[in-house]
Amino acid sequence: MGFRRLLRATRQDDWGFLKGAKSLWGDEVRLNLRLSSSKKWVRLSLVRGALWDSAQRRAPKTRQATRATADVDGLPLLTDPCCPTAEPLWCCEEGTTCCDGLQCCTVENCCPNNTCCPWPCDECIDNGTLSGGTITVNPDPACLQDIITFTASGVSDDGGEQRRNCVLETIAPVAPTYTWELTIPPGYPAPLPPLSGTGPAVSVVAKAPGTYSVTFKANADRDCPPPEITLDPAVKTLAFAAAITANPTSIPATTVWAGMPANISQSTISVPWNPPECEGTVEIVEIDPIEGYVPPDEGTLTPDGQNTWRYDAFTEPAAEHCPKLVRVWIAAMMGDVELSRVSILVKPVHTHWTQGASSNFANDYNYIVWKYAGVLATSGGAFTGGVTISTNGCVGCPFGCVYACTTLNPFTGTYSVAFGTTTFTGTENQAASIIGHELVHTTAADECPAYTWEFNNDAATGVFQCDTAYL
Ligand SMILES: [Zn+2]
Repeated sequence: MGFRRLLRATRQDDWGFLKGAKSLWGDEVRLNLRLSSSKKWVRLSLVRGALWDSAQRRAPKTRQATRATADVDGLPLLTDPCCPTAEPLWCCEEGTTCCDGLQCCTVENCCPNNTCCPWPCDECIDNGTLSGGTITVNPDPACLQDIITFTASGVSDDGGEQRRNCVLETIAPVAPTYTWELTIPPGYPAPLPPLSGTGPAVSVVAKAPGTYSVTFKANADRDCPPPEITLDPAVKTLAFAAAITANPTSIPATTVWAGMPANISQSTISVPWNPPECEGTVEIVEIDPIEGYVPPDEGTLTPDGQNTWRYDAFTEPAAEHCPKLVRVWIAAMMGDVELSRVSILVKPVHTHWTQGASSNFANDYNYIVWKYAGVLATSGGAFTGGVTISTNGCVGCPFGCVYACTTLNPFTGTYSVAFGTTTFTGTENQAASIIGHELVHTTAADECPAYTWEFNNDAATGVFQCDTAYL
């Protein structure tokens, strides 16, 4: 046992201060101390780890021994089996134990090898520290449905020192262990991922935009562990944008009628994804029957180059007598998240040819004649002398300005017809009915059979179902 270690094992407030070492031989160290209580000098000897007062032949009060043969300082005599029968006679005080027959130790200082340790037999001298550590986040940028992985690394343990059975031992550094806590965005759909766990890495599927963060805590799983450290949180924010646009935003329905210009029932959908690496999907998300008409299909979306799609309008069947305006909503989607939407108005073909900048009444006439060919054939007539579309709302007939007028050429025997624009600016059912009326006139019939034909065929022209005002 070393001299310095002995001093550390005693309470210096009762011992005064060290005067100096007197001599050292064998197992004994002699030294002079001045007691702070009496201011007297005493000579102490250390023999095999015990302190002895050379003047009084007793250990100082702070030492855990008292004399067996006398009541010293009011301390009771003890009948301790450690007490030897010959001088020096020392018994161990209450709260101490005898380790080797001569030395009295505190219980925690009596080591398993039956020696008395100046310190606790087992104690942590230096727990060491954990330091460093970073968190990496992949991938970057992250898109919806990506697996985001947070990985902690770089935490170092500088080891420690402990006393085991009174022997100092170095504690080797160990690889750190980790616990983590995950924070997910408020809009994350159920089922939620685990929000805490163990290990150096945590992965989460990015099912919602927003902020994902992970806090790692590192520990060293060894003797005399160092304090836990918390690494700076790693934060990953997923923000997406896609300003979807459509051009044009108003198109006619698709028809198999051969007179329709190519590509006229299409709209180009553009979606600049941000970040560009995170491309989502474009979907038809809603068919809004704003006038109560539900089309037979939604139309189709087809990829058409970088960030563009082509929307082909739904079909207007030839048998559909009451087509109406429909609003089609198309959205830029990132997973289940709708980033933006745009609407396209899909007009009936008749509306396309009779309203706005696309008006062309001759085309509408051809379309009606094609679409209602079945019922028009029942008129038994034909415009053998040609068809004229006036730029005026009505055309002059002998009995006034009317929708249309059919005229017989007495020289050729052919019938020509002139339509005013109001023939077409109403419903397609009205237009079909008026055309049939004029066709009846080409059979040399007067107004009575012509109107009768209209009444008899009001279901086939759709007037009955779709245009009661004309009826
Ligand atoms: Zn008539």
